[in-house]
Amino acid sequence: IFIGMVAGILIGVLLQLIFDDSGDLRFSIFGYSISTYNILVDGIFSTLGQIFIASLKMLVVPLVFVSLICGTSSLTEPSKLGRLGVKSIGLYIFTTAIAISLAISLGLLVSPGVGVEAPSDAVFQAQQAPSFGQVILDMFPTNPINSLAEGKMLQIIIFAVLLGVAMAMCGEAGKRIASFFEDLNTVIMRLVTIIMNLAPYGVFVLMAKLFSSIGVNMLENLAKYFFLVLAVLIIHGLVTYSVLLKAFTGLNPMMLFYKMRDAAQFAFSTASSSATLPVTMETAQNKLGVGKSVSSFTLPLGSTINMDGTAIMQGVATVFIAQVYGVDLTVSDYLMVVLTATLASVGTAGVPGVGLIMLAMVLQQVNLPVEGIALIIGVDRLLDMTRTAVNITGDCTVACIIAKSENELDATRFNNKKAGLKEE
Ligand code: ASP
Repeated sequence: IFIGMVAGILIGVLLQLIFDDSGDLRFSIFGYSISTYNILVDGIFSTLGQIFIASLKMLVVPLVFVSLICGTSSLTEPSKLGRLGVKSIGLYIFTTAIAISLAISLGLLVSPGVGVEAPSDAVFQAQQAPSFGQVILDMFPTNPINSLAEGKMLQIIIFAVLLGVAMAMCGEAGKRIASFFEDLNTVIMRLVTIIMNLAPYGVFVLMAKLFSSIGVNMLENLAKYFFLVLAVLIIHGLVTYSVLLKAFTGLNPMMLFYKMRDAAQFAFSTASSSATLPVTMETAQNKLGVGKSVSSFTLPLGSTINMDGTAIMQGVATVFIAQVYGVDLTVSDYLMVVLTATLASVGTAGVPGVGLIMLAMVLQQVNLPVEGIALIIGVDRLLDMTRTAVNITGDCTVACIIAKSENELDATRFNNKKAGLKEE
């Protein structure tokens, strides 16, 4: 996968060098200039890339639904479910709060926006932020088939959990259905591994397409913002998660990072925690040894509500935009930013670019000009990719911590470098 990624990036950059903006060759070969670019990039790479992402997304709903039913119907102790819920949500909010606090503190220290001219012609159409009550209400399905069809993750989680609990209470009938779902789960997990075999090629075309069109002439103004977000993402991804994992479980964080590398590369290339979910779940269960009842609940929840990387971008972006527009934010404003960014992440799914939509809600809360987003949008794609990798690493760290506390972490599997590999 790594080779696919690097090769894709190189080919993409190369294509950018040899084709001009209108897609014609920058030089002509024997006086012959063709629009190979359109055929190659817009035709082949783009189509193959979309097929790859579609096949990942195709697995998300069945996988979450079926594995969550298996996870909850096998619970012998119903109170465990409540405990899992409280621990997951608590830890997710805790890690997000650390992430955004870190981002705001470093943002204030580095001052990425001081000296940057505010553009007068920036426009950005903000979406209306849903109220908190609406976010909660939206979690409950009225028609579960509709929730499944539209991929509404929180609604699917609630329905699957209730169904699983009812199955656990139904004795023989429940067991019969449960064994059907167990079998279905095995088959779907198999499908995940089949699609993962295509990953190197999928990642290659996605990278080649992206890097052939991504703007490389980053404005000097934005360099400070860009590198600061990147630095905070790396610090949070490596330091915060290491400290948390070590403190709560005593496990070796290096092993976590080593085993997360495939999933992180998926996240990087797709910029979507939702599309990466099948890979994240496979990694947690097969490589990290997280018990199914924990991973099937914690990870789908995390892919929707836990976005530490996104919170980091929002923290730095808020400081940046405030500085560009010369607005002084108070401590209580910053607390408001922490709160809104955390809540905004609950109601939005992990798909590319959603972080900017959430940022609009955050800016509105503290009366900052939403047009400021137009300033940073140009460099957002690369940051989106990186923060998605952080988002899913956070999900897996929390899953390991919870599994350990529930005695559901197979430490031998976690520490075995080869666990979960094909030859196993
Ligand atoms: N792309 C991110 C994710 O899926 C969300 C975002 O920050 O835009 O996790």
